[in-house]
Amino acid sequence: MCGIVGYVGKKEAVSKLVKGLKTLEYRGYDSAGIALLQSEKIVVVKDKGRIANLEKSLDYNNLKGTIGIAHTRWATHGVPSKENAHPHMDQNKHFAVVHNGIIENYLELKNQLIKEGFSFQSETDTEVIPVLMEYYYQKYQDVMQAFQCTLKDLRGSYAILVISPLLPNTILVAKKGSPLVIGKGNDGIYIASDIPAIIEYTKDFYFLEDGESAIISDSLTFYNHDFQKIDKNSKTIEWEIDAIDKNGFDDYMLKEIHEQPEALKNTLNGIISFNQPVQFVGFALNKSYLENLKHIYIVACGTAMHAGLVGKLAIEKLCRIPVTVEVASEFRYRDPIIDQSTLCIFISQSGETADTIAALKLAHEKGAKTIAISNVFESSITREADHTLYTHAGPEIAVASTKAYISQVGLIVAFAIYMSEVLEISVSLSNELKKGLIDLPNLMGIVISHEDQYKKIAKKLVNETDLFYIGRGNDYHIAMEGSLKLKEISYIHSEAYPAGELKHGPIALIDKGTFVFGIITDPNIAEKTLSNLEEVKSRGANIILITNQNLKVEHVINIPNINPIISPILAIIPLQFIAYFIAKEKGLDVDKPRNLAKSVTVE
Ligand code: GLU
Repeated sequence: MCGIVGYVGKKEAVSKLVKGLKTLEYRGYDSAGIALLQSEKIVVVKDKGRIANLEKSLDYNNLKGTIGIAHTRWATHGVPSKENAHPHMDQNKHFAVVHNGIIENYLELKNQLIKEGFSFQSETDTEVIPVLMEYYYQKYQDVMQAFQCTLKDLRGSYAILVISPLLPNTILVAKKGSPLVIGKGNDGIYIASDIPAIIEYTKDFYFLEDGESAIISDSLTFYNHDFQKIDKNSKTIEWEIDAIDKNGFDDYMLKEIHEQPEALKNTLNGIISFNQPVQFVGFALNKSYLENLKHIYIVACGTAMHAGLVGKLAIEKLCRIPVTVEVASEFRYRDPIIDQSTLCIFISQSGETADTIAALKLAHEKGAKTIAISNVFESSITREADHTLYTHAGPEIAVASTKAYISQVGLIVAFAIYMSEVLEISVSLSNELKKGLIDLPNLMGIVISHEDQYKKIAKKLVNETDLFYIGRGNDYHIAMEGSLKLKEISYIHSEAYPAGELKHGPIALIDKGTFVFGIITDPNIAEKTLSNLEEVKSRGANIILITNQNLKVEHVINIPNINPIISPILAIIPLQFIAYFIAKEKGLDVDKPRNLAKSVTVE
């Protein structure tokens, strides 16, 4: 969460910082601020609210300086306010700091510093960082020593940038558990929480490992966690700037829904081709390992967890290996049964999801093989896992995930097919699914082309306060994801339920006029779900059915027929559109829904 940008170079920093922040605004938007080094003094401008608000207070003519740091906040400690906005400084204005993460021992540090006579202006955990630096600076009269002593005292997670008039032309950088990338451009060095913020200036990036720090001026010096100098090579990232443009769409979410066929093609490129075994470059599992596997866990949060549920169904059907899907924040604290005969798969779009990374570390400690599925190259999760499978969906900017979800589903089904081929079982189902995955981008295009129908349905639902989504098997997994999309961006309460479970409680909530989405893409259970829909209809509900079967209901959204193992990739699309159009109709900020941030880097 939160977006950080830094620049040190030859050009004016302020416009570069603001531009970078705007690209990162999906990471947090409670408040924003910048700090520049100007005539050997730190100048800070910050405010509550969005970056557009901060911009109003920026006097570009008077904000001169070629070194600066900036922050867009997702509050963890202290309400969103001007005082709590970053950058934070010590009382002598020697250090300005932006921080992403949580300093877990901040209270202890704060109380010690107050006893030493220091004062605080904000409620944040972050403010202890500049104050602690000042404390150590007064003690040792050495900025680098102050920085290192401060880092040693901090517990928790952080990506930190520090500027100081005591070290002109320099930004100090440290990382532990929060994302940070450093890019070397022609006119200076750029630092950011995420690549899109600075891809315009460079394609050469340096990635810090947890515990590492750096001094950035006109050159780069890296340090390990013992503060010994280390060498680091840059890596080239080939993302195009277009990928972070809205390309004429009103919102990133709408653009990303439309990009789904292309995203899936990119995900499966080089992995799936009909009549060829599935292959992952640089990654293989052998038959005896798979035969000895007793259990697979798929661990993730939110939408990624829903992709995991589709993966469970595919793996169990194709490979006959039991799979448990679990929410990462639960998994990590319940002492799960894991050993060398367990394979653990972790899914995270950003690759920075704090709970998922912690769960991965736990699985490693217990001896399991770990695989990460991520959309972001070199993200933290990819460095922790034994192997990474990249979704290659391209940058996803809207907070509510769409294209990353379908790419995760496509990739995990491809992985299930891969395992079944190594095990030499389920040959005909594997072949059918491979053909299905190859056909899907075209079929997705057909579903997307009915956008107007979804818009009309959305208009009917704008004033609803409770919606239901029901289905069985994978259709229930689609229901869960559809319901989550609606909650995330339209703020309408909704429930996703297994269709057969409804009468064990929630049917009591069905009233005259309640809207219920039914999802039926599996012919084997179509009649069962249809009966459940009849049950709610008899109690006055309005049914909207998404189906690939020939079923007669008042409101039907027809989608192309495909094997139910991969039908979520088609059936979710109308539900994404409907959530989107409801939110638009309500005048909400679709890309940046309240209280949410794209990359959840805190527990
Ligand atoms: N914990 C810090 C705060 O609440 C940083 C939050 C963030 O990552 O935006 O200010």
